[in-house]
Amino acid sequence: MNFRFTNRTGGVSTGAFASLNLGSHVGDQLSDVLRNRQIVSESLGSIQFMKQVHGERIAIIESTVDDEPTADALITGIPGINLAVQVADCIPLLLSSPEAVAAVHVGRKGLVNDISKKTLDVMRHMGSTSIQAFIGPSICGRCYEVSEDIYSQVVALHPRSASRTSLQKYALDLPAALREVLDSEGVEIIDHTICTVENHDLFSFRRDGVTGRQAGFISL
Ligand SMILES: [Zn+2]
Repeated sequence: MNFRFTNRTGGVSTGAFASLNLGSHVGDQLSDVLRNRQIVSESLGSIQFMKQVHGERIAIIESTVDDEPTADALITGIPGINLAVQVADCIPLLLSSPEAVAAVHVGRKGLVNDISKKTLDVMRHMGSTSIQAFIGPSICGRCYEVSEDIYSQVVALHPRSASRTSLQKYALDLPAALREVLDSEGVEIIDHTICTVENHDLFSFRRDGVTGRQAGFISL
């Protein structure tokens, strides 16, 4: 098994997308994005990206395809295929077992629609028993301010997401809520959490608006 979380260094994109932007849908020049993806591919091998829509669709990948599947989780049981999840504040969740690996996009909507638990269920159908989770960089519970409405909706489902900003505004701690879900599923957690808003080596949509995407990668 191999996994990696990229940051914004080491690529060719410029301006708001400097420099290792891996997102093709954010306004960056496509030629730069493709070059950046090639740079990562040169060290990792073949990569499968997905069109992420904050939904709950899970795609099982048997071989890489140019036409990216619309999904928010990718799973493969085939060695050598790197699954990619792109983020700029949402949580990149990588799941590993000897039988299958998965890359999961866990934002607020993904937490509410249980994409991580649904992905674990599919992995278990594929024979996974002992599963490890790598939780990558995302917006933290002090930085993710939300409206009272959204706060109430999410906290009703995931009490551990309850948080406040330094100014005592309503906020959500998505990594804390995800850790609780994974714990309750008996998954071992390896925490690579670091705040995207507070670390300028990382792309953050909440901080910058127009920005690129870093990614998490995992292969069997
Ligand atoms: Zn933060």
